[in-house]
Amino acid sequence: MEQYFDFFVRSYQVIFVRYLIAASLFFLIFYVIFGKRWTYKKIQAKFPQNRDYIREVSYSAFTVVIFALFAVVIFRSPLTPYSQIYRDFSAMPIWYYVLCFPIMFILHDTYFYWMHRMLHHPKIFKYAHLVHHKSTNPSPWAAYSFHPIEAVFETAIIVIFAFALPLHISAFGFFFLFQIFYNVYGHCGYEIYPKNFHKHWFGKWINTSVHHNLHHKHFDNSYGLYFTFWDRIMGTMAPQYDESFEDVKGRKKELA
Ligand SMILES: [Zn+2]
Ligand SMILES: [Zn+2]
Repeated sequence: MEQYFDFFVRSYQVIFVRYLIAASLFFLIFYVIFGKRWTYKKIQAKFPQNRDYIREVSYSAFTVVIFALFAVVIFRSPLTPYSQIYRDFSAMPIWYYVLCFPIMFILHDTYFYWMHRMLHHPKIFKYAHLVHHKSTNPSPWAAYSFHPIEAVFETAIIVIFAFALPLHISAFGFFFLFQIFYNVYGHCGYEIYPKNFHKHWFGKWINTSVHHNLHHKHFDNSYGLYFTFWDRIMGTMAPQYDESFEDVKGRKKELA
């Protein structure tokens, strides 16, 4: 029992510290150091209040409990022998190691889009997803601000990865390290992709901070995570997306 608990505590520390590093980095840059100078660039002009930050960090701290429990299930439980995660680098060819990344992005994006649409079902929304949507003007701290029910659905993707796909432990680690940074970027309230990215042949398929910000503002469209593929084919792109992206990237300091 003690070994499970030790692993749970270690997992909690790793996941929570990763969240703190990613969120505080964005918060320091965009809200503290350049907060005043860059206000004109902010997607929604207002800044959240201290009580919003406190709510977002508190829910995120609890979400990490759920994430750490799932880590125990995958790495230290009777189910662990069935996991496909491998540690010997030579067990699979190098091309497979590289190919795993696009596969993980596509799988996670598809899983997230449909799971997210389910969370918006009127019978489920207020029990599971309202907590995340209390941040109508999200900050970097909102990255893990979920109700525990949502946290279970959010983290279930790691079960799919671990049991359905042979993955090197480092690929698993790199992917989720990237995921927290991208997640924080999506909630940071600023757009860091360049002007016209939303119209670029590649950029139009990539989910941006403006895109996810519109989801937090309007609730009923722009559900995607990494890509806009599902939103485009399902007709759930925010109708204001192009206009908002152009507005945010076209603002000039003196006019603000
Ligand atoms: Zn969000
Ligand atoms: Zn939502």
